[in-house]
Amino acid sequence: MSARPEILFPLFGSLTSLAGVGPKTSSTFSQLHVHTPRDLLFTLPHSGISRMVVESVTDVPPPAVVTVQVTTVQHRPSPVKGRPTRVTVSDGRTDFELVFFHARGDWLRQTLPIGEKRLVSGKIELFDGVIQMVHPEHIVKSSAGATIPAFEPIYPLVAGLSQKLMQRATKGALEIAPALQEWIDPGLKTVRGWPGWQDALRTAHDPATPGDLSPQSPARQRLAYDELFAHQLTLAIAREARQKQAGIASVGTGDMRNKVLNKLPFRPTDAQTRVMGEIASDMASSHRMNRLLQGDVGSGKTLVAFVALVTAVESGGQGVMMAPTEILARQHLASLQPLAESAGIVLEIFSGRDKGRARQDKLKALAKGDIQILVGTHAVFQDDVHFADLRLVVVDEQHRFGVRQRMNLSAKAAAPDVLVMTATPIPRSLALARFGDMDFSQLNEKPPGRRPVTTALVSNSRLQDVIARLKEAIAKGQQAYWVCPLVSESESLALSAVQARQSVLAAAFGNDRVALVHGQMAAGDKDAAMARFLDGETSVLVATTAIEVGVDVPNATIMIIESAEHFGLTQLHQLRGRVGRGTAESTCLLMYAPPLGERARQRLEILRRTEDGFKIAEEDMRLRGAGDVLGVQQSGLPRFRIADLEHQTELMQVACDDARLTLQRDPELTSVRGTAIRAFLFLMEQDKAIRMISVG
Ligand code: ADP
Ligand code: MG
Repeated sequence: MSARPEILFPLFGSLTSLAGVGPKTSSTFSQLHVHTPRDLLFTLPHSGISRMVVESVTDVPPPAVVTVQVTTVQHRPSPVKGRPTRVTVSDGRTDFELVFFHARGDWLRQTLPIGEKRLVSGKIELFDGVIQMVHPEHIVKSSAGATIPAFEPIYPLVAGLSQKLMQRATKGALEIAPALQEWIDPGLKTVRGWPGWQDALRTAHDPATPGDLSPQSPARQRLAYDELFAHQLTLAIAREARQKQAGIASVGTGDMRNKVLNKLPFRPTDAQTRVMGEIASDMASSHRMNRLLQGDVGSGKTLVAFVALVTAVESGGQGVMMAPTEILARQHLASLQPLAESAGIVLEIFSGRDKGRARQDKLKALAKGDIQILVGTHAVFQDDVHFADLRLVVVDEQHRFGVRQRMNLSAKAAAPDVLVMTATPIPRSLALARFGDMDFSQLNEKPPGRRPVTTALVSNSRLQDVIARLKEAIAKGQQAYWVCPLVSESESLALSAVQARQSVLAAAFGNDRVALVHGQMAAGDKDAAMARFLDGETSVLVATTAIEVGVDVPNATIMIIESAEHFGLTQLHQLRGRVGRGTAESTCLLMYAPPLGERARQRLEILRRTEDGFKIAEEDMRLRGAGDVLGVQQSGLPRFRIADLEHQTELMQVACDDARLTLQRDPELTSVRGTAIRAFLFLMEQDKAIRMISVG
């Protein structure tokens, strides 16, 4: 089955097929991203109102939503055009007014005949000392009282839509929602106590209590799970499809790797050893590796990546490691060259600075296979860069590279394994939502001997104190980073702020003690400044966030971040990770422009409480929402109508595991449940995925 099942046709028909929806309303609906009855089903009420049944409106203080029985006393149309008609009614204890704008008099007299009893329901308010109810939402004969819901759903609206219309249209959509074969794993459904799909929709749209509106209610959980499951199925199908592509099995001999490990002045952590194993066995298999390596700053990702590159070489091929900046590429070169030499491996760097003859020679050596491991920047993407036998692509700090570039690099070889590394701790649910088609490895342990970094919040107004303290520290031989944010839209303005800061600090500490690094410097100058700092020639490195990722200067023990409130928490965490790398006590000062708002303070306080990048990321997500944490342009997050990544984290993991297991057992989705899942994927508009499943 690769076409939409007929049973779903009504749900994908026109909205105008629903009672009460004409062409005009239908186009208004599109502003809510509702185009079909199906969309309407998945647009859930965000809240509800209880309609208290009272004997008299005097029983409750206004404003309140009540249902009350009244007798019509008098119709009082306004003599002035455009003014409302008032209908005086009595509830037996007091008179009050029903107010109608633009109501036809004859309709009003029919609906509320003088002397007759009616049940009315709406919001009572006090206006100029008079109790009134503007446009009651319900007016029915007492015998039809049961038609007034005790609890009524409230939907998101746009201009041109009313709650009534929404409720009516939704009701129509519910009526055409077909009974479908269950796609959720029966065990999971039982354990969670989830209702079937139709029941879940009914409860979600017709809640009996406020509890039914909670994201934790079984009906809502089930519908959220459906969304996550559909998304994860799509990712799992993509993953399977890619794994089926023949990759190259790169089986290492271990010879070179052992030489490298013996050369290290330390032992790999257990986490490093475990992840090295995960990567090695993935590379050894005949499918293509597509793996995300997450590890907090300083967890030792570089070594893990290098060992993987060495495996590629051992198996007779080549590997490339991409760094986001020239500085980082140079640093990788410096730290990895001795290890490569110890194993007799030829390692080279390639960047935009390679020019002319030397560049040609490098490219030739690379194409012949004489260079075995290449460390490089974006320059590696250039068209004339060719490898003899590229087995592994390592992308360091992946968020700096676009997917397009990664694809481009993959195109330089038949089907190289890909290892993407990131120090940006992404909350698990987001990682799954965004990278669920990849396999994960996590370095959840740091090398021993790291000292905790003392973190403090300091107002900008204490700048002079900070400078004075820093002066003492420098006198004792300590080194510091001083980071200024790019708060200004204009780069030149931001740059002048950094330069201004540098001159202030140079005046305080001496010109030759303070270096400057920023994004617009020539690469050579940048490297030279970094090198002087690394050698201890300069004491303070004033920088924009150019130092954010990767840079490693163990003797630097002080991190000062100006206007910290402008940074994302994970970014601050990464900056802080630049210190605390040696054996000395380290400090991080988060400076802010007073007054600091309550929310901003809360955010910065998280950094004081913990150094666990994943905890920080989770809290950041709770405070700022998923999209902000990943950053807009790279978020690549699917839009969910019901599921809520911030509060249904655990469900995403369940959905991911379930999706992968389901496909393992039934790769073509041909079992009974598999067939149900196919229909489900159409329902969830994930039919592209179905086309990826090869039939037969
Ligand atoms: P990141 O994960 O942030 O990229 P790096 O790979 O740069 O971390 O490692 C940070 C520092 O820790 C480097 O100086 C590296 O040599 C060192 N390191 C890596 N693994 C270990 C280990 N097992 N024991 C001690 N130090 C280690
Ligand atoms: Mg790194």
